[in-house]
Amino acid sequence: MSAVPTEVAASADRLKITEIFLSLQGEARQAGWPTVFVRLTGCPLRCQYCDTAYAFHGGDWWTIDDVVEQVRRQGVRHVCVTGGEPLAQKRCLVLLQQLCDAGFEVSLETSGALDIAAVDPRVSRVLDIKTPGSAEVHRNLWENLAQLTAHDQVKFVICSRADYEWARDVVAEHRLQDTCEVLFSPSFGQVQPRELADWIVADRLPVRFQMQLHKILWNDERGR
Ligand code: SF4
Repeated sequence: MSAVPTEVAASADRLKITEIFLSLQGEARQAGWPTVFVRLTGCPLRCQYCDTAYAFHGGDWWTIDDVVEQVRRQGVRHVCVTGGEPLAQKRCLVLLQQLCDAGFEVSLETSGALDIAAVDPRVSRVLDIKTPGSAEVHRNLWENLAQLTAHDQVKFVICSRADYEWARDVVAEHRLQDTCEVLFSPSFGQVQPRELADWIVADRLPVRFQMQLHKILWNDERGR
């Protein structure tokens, strides 16, 4: 058997990272908690509303040990692994496992386009379901829905009334509310938050309306 090239061996425990920073979690069940964000570089999708396009390229190589140490230094309990699409780097699975082993409350924000089956079950997965208005609806990996548990959440970003109706039908068809929490967010600048709230109330939809706190507090400033 041939030896593993030194360079490959050296990069085996590394991840390309765009940024690691401390802020408040702006979304989902963990909203409001001081949280360390680990933003992995790269995403195979191109949603029309993407607000993290700066994470598509660039970044720096970090060892997984150094990432865990940097998270530990921030002194908070919650950590969110995000992107980009974090699962596009296979070693993200190792990072998630090591963060759980280190005792953190770990959440993962993922696009719903990649398989989540191998994610450590201690991680709370926040799985996007891409709507037609995202321009990436064809990327949804529907098999992921069978993997969801009550520990996870699914998230729809709603870009229009047509998107809302589509998402409402998906929730009903898969009875998503019986599996995990279902989140509906207005796409910033495309649907008025109040409009979406009124639609949800009128339909008595079994979903949770949410707004992105970091956009309200810091106008989506990078690193906040
Ligand atoms: S999946 Fe997320 S990071 Fe990737 S393009 Fe869509 S919104 Fe942006």
